[in-house]
Amino acid sequence: MAVDTSNHGTRARRVALPIKGMTCAACVSTVQGALERIDGVDGAAVNLATETASISYDAGVASIDAMLRAVTAVGYGMGLEETRLQVEGPLDADASRAIEAALHRLDGVASVAVNPAADDVAVRVVRGAVNADALGDAVRSAGVDVLATESTDAVEADLERLSRAEDVRRLRSRFIVSAFAAVAIMVLMLTPPIERAIGATALNLMAWALATPVQFWAGQRFYAGAWGALKHRTSNMNTLIALGTSVAYGYSAVVTLFGGLLSLPNGAGTYFDTSAAIIALILFGRLLEARAKGRASGAIRALIGLQPRTARVIRNGEEHDVPITEVTPGDELLVRPGERVPADGDVLSGSSTMDESMLTGESLPVDKAQGDPVYGGAVNRLGSVTVRAARVGSDTALGNIIRLVQDAQGTHAPVQRLADAVAAVFVPAVLAVAAATFIVWLAVGPSPAYQFAMLNAIAVLIIACPCALGLATPTAIMVGMGRGAEHGLLFRDAAALEQAHRVNVVVLDKTGTLTRGKPVLTDVLPRGVSAHQLLSLSASVERLSEHPIAAAIVDGALSRGVAPRGASDFQAAPGRGARARVGEDYITVGSVGLMKEAGVALDGATLDDAQTLSEQGRTPIAVVRGKTLVGLLAVADTPRAEAKEAVAELHASGIKVIMLTGDRQATANAIAAELGIGTVLAEVLPGEKARQIARLQAEGNRVAMVGDGVNDAPALAQADIGIAIGTGTDVALEAAGAALMHSDLRGVATALGLSRATVRAIRQNLAWAFGYNVALIPVAAGVLYAAFGSGGTPEGLRWALGESGFLNPILAALAMAFSSVSVLANSLRLRGWRWRTAP
Ligand code: ADP
Ligand code: MG
Repeated sequence: MAVDTSNHGTRARRVALPIKGMTCAACVSTVQGALERIDGVDGAAVNLATETASISYDAGVASIDAMLRAVTAVGYGMGLEETRLQVEGPLDADASRAIEAALHRLDGVASVAVNPAADDVAVRVVRGAVNADALGDAVRSAGVDVLATESTDAVEADLERLSRAEDVRRLRSRFIVSAFAAVAIMVLMLTPPIERAIGATALNLMAWALATPVQFWAGQRFYAGAWGALKHRTSNMNTLIALGTSVAYGYSAVVTLFGGLLSLPNGAGTYFDTSAAIIALILFGRLLEARAKGRASGAIRALIGLQPRTARVIRNGEEHDVPITEVTPGDELLVRPGERVPADGDVLSGSSTMDESMLTGESLPVDKAQGDPVYGGAVNRLGSVTVRAARVGSDTALGNIIRLVQDAQGTHAPVQRLADAVAAVFVPAVLAVAAATFIVWLAVGPSPAYQFAMLNAIAVLIIACPCALGLATPTAIMVGMGRGAEHGLLFRDAAALEQAHRVNVVVLDKTGTLTRGKPVLTDVLPRGVSAHQLLSLSASVERLSEHPIAAAIVDGALSRGVAPRGASDFQAAPGRGARARVGEDYITVGSVGLMKEAGVALDGATLDDAQTLSEQGRTPIAVVRGKTLVGLLAVADTPRAEAKEAVAELHASGIKVIMLTGDRQATANAIAAELGIGTVLAEVLPGEKARQIARLQAEGNRVAMVGDGVNDAPALAQADIGIAIGTGTDVALEAAGAALMHSDLRGVATALGLSRATVRAIRQNLAWAFGYNVALIPVAAGVLYAAFGSGGTPEGLRWALGESGFLNPILAALAMAFSSVSVLANSLRLRGWRWRTAP
């Protein structure tokens, strides 16, 4: 899962590393702090929902090894994977040492175990940090040959981890045992005939026997977590739970053993039911949470699941089925109908149609013949083809998309900062409140004071879990991003997904965005030369330009039977035209504005013709030899089929739509009118586009810029959110904050709508999580007792607060489990989110 987005020349890198053992928002801030304190780490975003840390760092200064140490030092772990290398023996002590040293030199290697008896080497690496090839190379560099490499199936492992199947299994068995024990204890304690029959001491001993496995086996994870935190002088969620339940359990054990000796007052009961029930309920909450988190990763798991596990390689004319990890670039692969393409590459022979919808969101199958590119994960539908593999594994387009989505899911949304800040001080504050509660009730509480004091302190410890707070933002982001990916919509990070909801102005580039970007030559109006000559001169220049208009002119000439000639000294005038030498003469082809700039006088009739063509939505192009006009050409680009509807959808959600183009005002106006766009910014030179966006922002607008991602990079970067359209399989989210893999413009409204839905869910989650903690901590501390005074609890609240206005710690545990689960359920609602035009 690690990513290397290093640029040439710099050592700046970003990785996403799996973090283990985090249970709450407090853990997140501990891990994040530990990572950020490392020299050379520029930033770390730790995500509780995905259990990853996205870290940007300078590889010359910081290392994954240092990160592993830092995370371990604060009591957490990193997800490791093991690779076994079968090496050529026999291994003597020197060779073993050399292998170890070579492997440890790789960044991200956690442990190396060389087993000379079996000629094998077991290497544990931070998951995704080092690939098996690099391990093999390192061993070979130590002078030992590698015979076979066996790593856990990366796809399987990812799916397993994301579904949290293992976690769910463990939690389920522990929950069942503790729930059973808690119920049994309650039955014992609440059935007076039992106590009469066997006596209080025997009954307490039985309850103790039942509560003990719950406390130390089922509740082991809380102790482990609390101990890990304590060793590093911090505290977390587990501290609260371990402390709260241990107090109830320990107190009850003391009463059982020494109740008589200590001459405790009559009715000094035990609380084994409390400790067992709290653990059972919290485990139940965690169980539901683990299952919900598994579901939240559904979209990314679906993408990962698209990666084929095996491939059919043709070697020396023979077909071999091999695991996908053994396919290397250059291999010849056979793909039969119904199978998924194992790697990115080109068709060598055969023809077929392929379904690439999961890569592009485009539902129509694509025809493939010899020489056409194919993409790993696509479904081959009709024919058998052979494919030359070019990119394999995580280098494929699918691998890239998975990485982008996983990376983005792991980042922090700006709204989360508040939750993080609160969480960092939360646990110590709760410990202080619990202690204060204990002391106050001991001093001034009703009798039996120490029991009320203890129960209230436990209720505070249990109810104050900042779990829901930690889950509020990342779960919504994760589900929202996944939903986006299913729509062919990728966001660079959580900030981009969040930003998009504020947008009130959408600026659309005309050529290639609102229009298909494939103009055609419509008019040929020669002046003083033949139409053939006009076309020949202009096509000769345009053959050297890569502008879509240039292609239209060249194609138009060819289809009229005119072949371009050779030209030299080509020079482009971006956003205006081009010029080159054809034979003896300099030929300039471009906009009317360019001609004015070049000091070519255009006669009135020509200007009138240009204006008329513009008003028809065509783009007039003047052609000049030396300083003399030789004719006018016109090209027209048809709007995308769905452009009008896309604009209407944006208008319906109250967004202002602006067309931005370098084309003539009249041409742009004509197309804007056709599409229902009210505002047009025309004749904007390429370099000016970003400035126009900045101007709109200065007027107080939140601007989304939609463009093709290549030409429009500065404008995309300037906008509050840049949306690159039609990027297909080579998505790069550098300038843009979001990308539509397909080129359906309606995706813009979908992206903004998804952002609004996600932000709404986050706000609901935060309100719930904050409100819950703020409201219930005082209740747990016994404030209501003070409020109700000696009058006792009002009738309606007795079920929760008993006679005296104190919150039962078991209810506190129930409420806590409920709060996390409700936050998760709210985030999961986004899975079914669908874009609908506002009525
Ligand atoms: P847009 O903003 O619509 O993408 P550009 O900025 O690429 O358009 O180009 C603006 C205008 O410049 C075009 O409408 C055309 O008049 C002129 N132009 C640019 N390049 C060329 C070229 N190679 N040949 C002819 N005209 C060109
Ligand atoms: Mg353009």
